[in-house]
Amino acid sequence: MFKTVHQTILFLLLASSLVYSQASDKYYLLKAEQFYDSEKNAFVKNQEVLIKNNLVIEVGNQLTLPPNTVVLDFGNATITPGLIDAHSHILLEQKIDEPLAVDAMLVSSETRVLRAAKFAKSYLKAGFTTIRDVGNSGQYLDLEVRNAIDKGYILGPRMLVSGPIIGSMDGQIDGIPLADFERISRQEYSMISGVEEAKKAVREHIARGVDVIKILAIGNRLVLSLDEMKAIVETAHSERVKVTAHCDRDWAAQNAIEAGVDGIEHAYGFKKATLEKMAGKGIYVVPTYGSTETIRQYFELQKQSYTDEDLENSASSWKKWIKELKAAGVSIVAGSDAYFDLKASRGDVAKQTIWGYADSGLSPEEVLQTATINAAIALDMRDKIGVIKQNAFADIVVFEGDMKKNIKKSLFSVKMVMKNGEIHLME
Ligand SMILES: [Zn+2]
Repeated sequence: MFKTVHQTILFLLLASSLVYSQASDKYYLLKAEQFYDSEKNAFVKNQEVLIKNNLVIEVGNQLTLPPNTVVLDFGNATITPGLIDAHSHILLEQKIDEPLAVDAMLVSSETRVLRAAKFAKSYLKAGFTTIRDVGNSGQYLDLEVRNAIDKGYILGPRMLVSGPIIGSMDGQIDGIPLADFERISRQEYSMISGVEEAKKAVREHIARGVDVIKILAIGNRLVLSLDEMKAIVETAHSERVKVTAHCDRDWAAQNAIEAGVDGIEHAYGFKKATLEKMAGKGIYVVPTYGSTETIRQYFELQKQSYTDEDLENSASSWKKWIKELKAAGVSIVAGSDAYFDLKASRGDVAKQTIWGYADSGLSPEEVLQTATINAAIALDMRDKIGVIKQNAFADIVVFEGDMKKNIKKSLFSVKMVMKNGEIHLME
């Protein structure tokens, strides 16, 4: 008798958990005329995406739908993976007429975090479902924001964060009284000297929970030595953490490349041979430009008169540079470096960089590639984000119209944003 009751209870428990799991499954079917397949780097017509809870479970035509599937037909729109900005600074805002140090000196940590919540939300609304935040975030404030998003306290994209940028003894802040230099630089950076300090800084960062290590191959003036960078890369890689290097001088990049960094941020004006060496080693570049619209916003805020020709002239070296990166065969990863207060939403400012790649001559497919699969690989999240396929996170954006035909128009007309299977914006 006891045994029977026990078995009955067990059966009921199993049955109820089965019912519960069926009841809690949420299915969406998304469909639209245009679909960007990041792995093929091609647009495909009339694809359907079936989502169960937070994952994509099938992509194809005329899929069989489980009962209670919510079907969302977006007509002549374009479905793409959620965009990725691999170079954000959401704990920083620099006024156009103020030095970089002012924000770190005058704005409290609490206010920076609250302000970051606003920027995070704007990223999500703009269609970014992942950002990689790479420093200038005080002492690990980026981790607080990332964790708050993960816990659902605030809305924002997935965040991968670096914690304080590791650099030599001079950081990136200048133009402040010497008496304040050490304090503010130590608040914003991990300043190290020597191989042991380099290893310790990486271990401290990883122990606190960073997702990536960002270094200054060159700071204001000082460089990390080859041995220091090697120690950083070896320590990070032994814990399966990637390393990316801020570097804007060709000569300073040589040691970073030899040390084995995974990527280089900015890479302004690198020589062709350097880019080809990077391509050969699989080191990506994050070219952080805006667009002619970003330049226009600067000019407006500076109350500077300008013509369309002035905008084009200012952007011409960037545009040429993107073509050179492409010609060298280096992986281009989208990153905005958006931190100026341009009196526009942070997410839209970041998206100007992506539009800037298109304006530089990359095809719509190539542009999307930089902000999806290339970025996913750089972030060590291949197959999970930056792609719409079975078992990837349901991070999906729907843009109005045919993006292949008119990427500029579509890119700034977001119809729907889904992150991890949850709809965050629906126009
Ligand atoms: Zn930056």
